Parts: sequence; C-alpha cells; structure tokens
Amino acid sequence: MAIRVLADDVASQIAAGEVVERPASVVKELVENALDAGATTITIRVEQAGRKIIEIADNGTGISSVELPLAITRHATSKLRTAEDLFHIRSLGFRGEALASIGSVARMTVISREQNADLGARMLIEGGQSGQVTSTGIPIGTVIRVEDLFYNVPARLKFLKSDMTERNQINNLVMRYALAYPQVRFELEQDGKTMLRTAGNNDRREILAQLYGVDVARQMLEVTLEEDIRVSGFISPVALTRSNRREITFFVNGRWVQDAALIAALIQAYHTLLMIGRYPLAVLFIQLEPEEVDVNVHPAKAEVRFRSPDQVFSAVQRTVKRALLAYSPVPNVNTPYWNAPVYQQRVVDPAWDMAAELQAEQAAELGSEAATSPQPALPSGKVPLLRLVGQVGAAYLVAEGPDGLYLIDQHAAHERVLFEKMTRQNQQKIASQTLLEPAVIVLPPQSAHLLEQQVGILTNYGFDIELFGPNTFRVRGVPAILAGSDPAAAVRVVVEDFEEDESPLANEIEARIIARVCKRAAVKAGQVLANDEQLALLRDLESCQSPRTCPHGRPTMIHLSVDLLERQFGRRGSR
Ligand code: ADP
Ligand code: MG
Repeated sequence: MAIRVLADDVASQIAAGEVVERPASVVKELVENALDAGATTITIRVEQAGRKIIEIADNGTGISSVELPLAITRHATSKLRTAEDLFHIRSLGFRGEALASIGSVARMTVISREQNADLGARMLIEGGQSGQVTSTGIPIGTVIRVEDLFYNVPARLKFLKSDMTERNQINNLVMRYALAYPQVRFELEQDGKTMLRTAGNNDRREILAQLYGVDVARQMLEVTLEEDIRVSGFISPVALTRSNRREITFFVNGRWVQDAALIAALIQAYHTLLMIGRYPLAVLFIQLEPEEVDVNVHPAKAEVRFRSPDQVFSAVQRTVKRALLAYSPVPNVNTPYWNAPVYQQRVVDPAWDMAAELQAEQAAELGSEAATSPQPALPSGKVPLLRLVGQVGAAYLVAEGPDGLYLIDQHAAHERVLFEKMTRQNQQKIASQTLLEPAVIVLPPQSAHLLEQQVGILTNYGFDIELFGPNTFRVRGVPAILAGSDPAAAVRVVVEDFEEDESPLANEIEARIIARVCKRAAVKAGQVLANDEQLALLRDLESCQSPRTCPHGRPTMIHLSVDLLERQFGRRGSR
C-alpha cells in the first residue's frame, strides 16, 4: 500500500482521539488550563451531558488577542520551552495539545482578556478551521465554549455512554478537582441544575460532604504526613467501605492520576482490617519534587511514573496506618461497635497484629528514640487461655481470662475458625462432599456468565460444578464444611460475591471464596450451642492466628479488662 502523509485535519483528529475521549476529558483539560492560569473562580456549565455545550469561565491571567491564534495551535504552549523543562513541570499542562484537539472535534469559541487589556478577544475554531480574531467586552479571564462535541466524528459519538454515565463522569471529575484545589471556588451546573458549588475557603471537609454526603464525610479520617514526600487528605475508617475501588482517588502534585500500584499500596495498609472484597474510600494528595515524577507518560496525563515508587508507596502506607491506629474503633459496653462506632484513642483494638507491626516499623525508623519513648505495651494478637462461663442470648459466649471478661460473637468466631482451617487445608486440597443427588440451578444470564468463568477456580475449593445448559449448572459437590446445607444456595452466595465487584484481583479471589463459604457454614446467632460445642469453639478460637477479627474484619470479641470493669464500677478513678 502506498504511504501517504495524512492531511492535517485527519492527523489532528487522530491526535485528538488520545486527549479527548469523552465530554469529561474536555472538562478536565479546560479546568486544568484555568488552574494553570491561576484562576480563583472556575464556573462550568454543561448541557446534555456535554454533547451540546461545555462552557468554562475562569478569572485567570487570560490570553492576549495577539496570542489567541497560537493558543489553539497544536504544540503551542506557554508552559514549557526545552525538553529539560519537562522534568521540572509545575503546571498541569505542558504539551500544548488540548485546545487544538478540542477545536478539531467540536465548535469551540475562545473569549479571553488579559489583565492589562481594555478589551477582550474572541475567536472561533470549528472542526480544526479557525476564524478571525475579533474584539469584545468581557471581564478579565477566559471563557471557552465547546459546542456539538464530536459533531464531525460520528464514530466517537457512538462510543459515548448513556447521558447519565457521561454526566456522572463530569460530576466526579469536577468534585475531585474541587477537593484538590479547595482554595478555588468551583461551580458546576448541568442542564440548569447546580451540581456543585464550593466556597474556595480551603475547607476540604465541606467539599467532601458534597461528594459523599454529610454522614460519610463526618466519618472520614483526615491524614497528613510531612516528610520529603508529603501526603494529605482523607481516608475511611475500617467500618466504612465500598464494594469496589472507584472511591479511591489520588492526586500527585495537583494532578489526578490513576495508578493501580498506589491503590494497591493503600489497600494493603488496611491489612486484614477490611472485609474481604470491600475497599476503603480515600482522597489522597501526594506532593513531591517535580524532579521525582515523570508526568509525560500518558496521552491524557492520567498516569505518572515515580523515580522512587517504593518510597512513595511506603509514605502512603505509613500515613494510612498511623491514622487507622490513632482512630481505631473502640468496642465497649456503652457504645456497641455495631451500631455506634466511636473513634478515639484505642482501648481495645481488634487490630493488634497491625499495631505491633507498625510499632516495629517505627522503631526501625526512629532507631533508639523509639526505644526510650514511653509506648504502652501492646497485647499480642493471640488470646489467652479462657475459661468458658456460658452462652447468652443464643449469640454470645462469655468467658473469663486472666485479664478480664470476654464476650465472644459465636458467628464471627466460628467464621474465623473455619476460615483458618480452610486456608490451611487449601495448601493440600479442600475437602469436597459429593452430593447424592446433584442439584440443578438456573441463573440470570449475567450471573451465569460470571459463574462460568469461575467454575475452574471453584473446584479448588471443593465445589464440583458443571455447565448443564444455557445459564444452567449442575452442582455435584460442595465443600465438605457445607455438607447438609442447600447446595444451590451455597453456589448463589459465591456468585453474588463475584457480582459485587466485577474485577477482583486474582489473589483476592481465593480469600473471598473461602470467606464466603465460611460465613455460610458458620453457626448463626440464635443457634443454641451445647456446652461441649461452646467449649470446642472457644478452644478452636484460641488456637487461631488472628482470633480477634472475623475474616471480614469485624471483631469476634469484646474484651472488658479488669481495669475497665473497676473503672466502670467506680472502684478506681479513670486514669
Ligand atoms: P497546555 O495547557 O499544554 O499549554 P493547551 O492547548 O491546553 O496546552 O493550552 C495552550 C495555551 O493556551 C496554554 O499554554 C496557555 O498559554 C493558553 N491557555 C489555555 N487556556 C487558558 C486559560 N483558561 N487561561 C489562560 N491561558 C490559557
Ligand atoms: Mg492544557
């Protein structure tokens, strides 16, 4: 085939495809430009999910009438001169591509007035063809109006999602930029409705409330780390989670980035405190020297490359662990954990393993300083030998230890015991119970599809399932610990879990399947246990690696220390 140089407009559209994927990407580029121009007020108006109109007005430095044609020229930028500059980038833009790209796939009007100019200038660019510059009256700053996005690229239009999805993308984007730049007043209006309005008063929690609602915003923990790498922002306490990673946001030097490794580092910092298949909410802002990040690795600048990724991940983890430790929930008599989590300095912590780990880490970091600083001794994660007192409410075991009273949630405790047994077994193979009579189940197409993909993996966990017809499966065996229970229900429970999160990480699947099966197999609250059953459960729990939490991260027990009891009964003043 003959090689030909592409016509300018074709080349432009191809390049634009990388930068301008959807309405939200237009909003992103224009908001970034306004921020780069030092705006303190940014007003965004959107109609029909951005297909009809996206208009952004800012009060930044403006563009002079002379430079207007340059601004919309590809590779024309005021933010960078030499290749070397790329490694000291402090602005969000640097390629000089956005305005040219948007102008090649829409009808774009740029109106702008510089600080010292008497009048503003206006210019239209339509499908890459620019018109004359005319003068016009406008306040200092810039207004960019983008109409009929993709009118000349029908293929692109077809790839847009529903209006609702595109609108949400825009909302999410602007909310996050508003959080990252709390000193800037943002206003977002979609089809005449105000979606967001921030005060520009630096109050991030107020913006958080608009993003998540007052209730969730109130619970989020504020974090900071002031080192060479600075980290600030908000994370959710362990009791507040989502079924996917979508509410995890990272900004690096003021830039929203999607970085799987950063997200993994964050999740890891929650350790076993999170329920399996549950994820934290987080909005974290990382600041480091521009020389430490390569921002020029992704067309939409959504990814960055760190010079020392491990240092960045470790900074994130330390920040998160410290905050979680400082604010662990306190199960105690007055404020039961399950209906009124309180966040205060820890008295009883289900997360002792992590506490010990963090202490060791800090000790290593601080050297001798930590050794001399007065740290309260942390009990180890194990529980002492307990004396069974009995069962109450057909739900809890009461036991006595050398250090006070233990109330044990029988369901959570049994889940933990089964989970550790099954995980151990898995190194060989999990015992399966063949059903005398195979069960046939029919699932909705979506679930059937998910199950079909996991059938192979499930055999490792004692399930014996085969495809039997369209959306129909035959269950011939279940994990031995589920013997006797309804096999169809057992399979459904596992499928439901796949549905909650479309893309679990490979190494999470195992733990999740096991946790699900154990949850199902564990004794329920309301089940009266014989004395020897209670005792067996207690002994099994004592020998667990992490007896204090269930596999989903909830506490298995509440410990009322002798000390606490004495204080509660007024035998001793609180210390
Ligand atoms: P980049 O941001 O990478 O420089 P753009 O195509 O987004 O490229 O913008 C080109 C140039 O137009 C910018 O370098 C800047 O000088 C100018 N510009 C764009 N938007 C604005 C704005 N809102 N206020 C002031 N100047 C702007
Ligand atoms: Mg730009």
